[in-house]
Amino acid sequence: QCPVPNATPEAVQAAVTAGRTKHEPAPYTTLPSYHDAGGYRTLRQCLSGERPLETVLSTMEASGLRGLGGAGFPAGRKWRIVREQAAPRLMAVNIDEGEPGTFKDRHYLERDPHRFLEGLLIAAWAVGVDAVYIYLRDEYHGCRTLLERELAALRADPPMRDMPAIELRRGAGAYICGEESAMIESIEGKRGMPRLRPPYVAQVGLFGRPTLEHNFETLYWVRDILEKGGDWFAGHGRHERKGLRSFSVSGRVKKPGVHLAPAGITLRELVDEYCGGMLDGHQLHAYLPGGASGGILPERLADVPLDFDTLQPHGCFIGSAAVVVLSDQDRVTDVARNLMRFFEHESCGQCTPCRSGTAKVNELIASDRWDLPLLAELSQVMRDASICGLGQAAPNPVDCVIKYFPEELTA
Ligand code: SF4
Repeated sequence: QCPVPNATPEAVQAAVTAGRTKHEPAPYTTLPSYHDAGGYRTLRQCLSGERPLETVLSTMEASGLRGLGGAGFPAGRKWRIVREQAAPRLMAVNIDEGEPGTFKDRHYLERDPHRFLEGLLIAAWAVGVDAVYIYLRDEYHGCRTLLERELAALRADPPMRDMPAIELRRGAGAYICGEESAMIESIEGKRGMPRLRPPYVAQVGLFGRPTLEHNFETLYWVRDILEKGGDWFAGHGRHERKGLRSFSVSGRVKKPGVHLAPAGITLRELVDEYCGGMLDGHQLHAYLPGGASGGILPERLADVPLDFDTLQPHGCFIGSAAVVVLSDQDRVTDVARNLMRFFEHESCGQCTPCRSGTAKVNELIASDRWDLPLLAELSQVMRDASICGLGQAAPNPVDCVIKYFPEELTA
């Protein structure tokens, strides 16, 4: 799924962290070592009343933590909304991580799974959920082995008396199942296709019940935020943005990988300060700020703060912060074709603008002579009439080529 068409296998491998192929996880923080470092103390403080519910909810809100799967909905507010719905309530955790270029959830899960599980249990307690379903990308064999082992350890030594049931479900490799309602359909045993909304998942979600849906990383930060305070998380940030972001960086940089950086950092700062600069012999030419769907920006826009809401004026978005750096040795039109083939392949086929639109766009961009008026019309229809974000965002790469890289097209 690497959207850089001519990246070396070594660069791709390095970007996907350590490149392990065995199903056995590498060394990580197990339950005893997590306990030794004060793990599950915050959860116990919540259960004992030492940390009142209202304090927990207001700390989460003060932190400004937003859904880090890409949607960016404020986490604290979501907890309140779902808590107000009628019981029984359920929870679904998204570790599908299918956005091309994104590998941050795997990075943290492979190192510190109980920090995530403690956040999950605190959220389950705060919202009052009866059961939790974790939806894990099937390609993450090592993560499944690890999670199965650590969930068994947790059940044998539960940190709370009435721990909610936690089920681990395997995805089957469909990009669309990263969309929350498609994931819920898949957990229910149906074909993963997005639902029409309203009603929203918070009201009518899994098995028809109100459902708290979270991305892995959102829950990963809960313990730190409660221990260090909402101001600690909100105190990071640059260029008037707040919080921390885990950037999955791949492409033409010296140090690809997951880089935890202030929200609002610019691409140029991220590459220079965290990624060791560009690879020797490569000049920054363009970048994908948010994986396949977040669009493509030119080098001259490398000083725009990277965060939720900051890239919309440029026709792009940060999504799950999967940054792919392209150099003067890459053709952006090739990248756009690669991404459009991906969208056509991954369209669930439920609605015509996306199913037929992605196929039609691929026909129209096959050569470097593009029918710009027809592509503009098609793009508008896909944005306006597709049911979910896949079809709505699919035209982004092509629109960005037309807007920012017209020199690559034949007149
Ligand atoms: Fe399916 Fe595409 Fe329609 Fe989404 S926009 S529901 S992926 S066909």
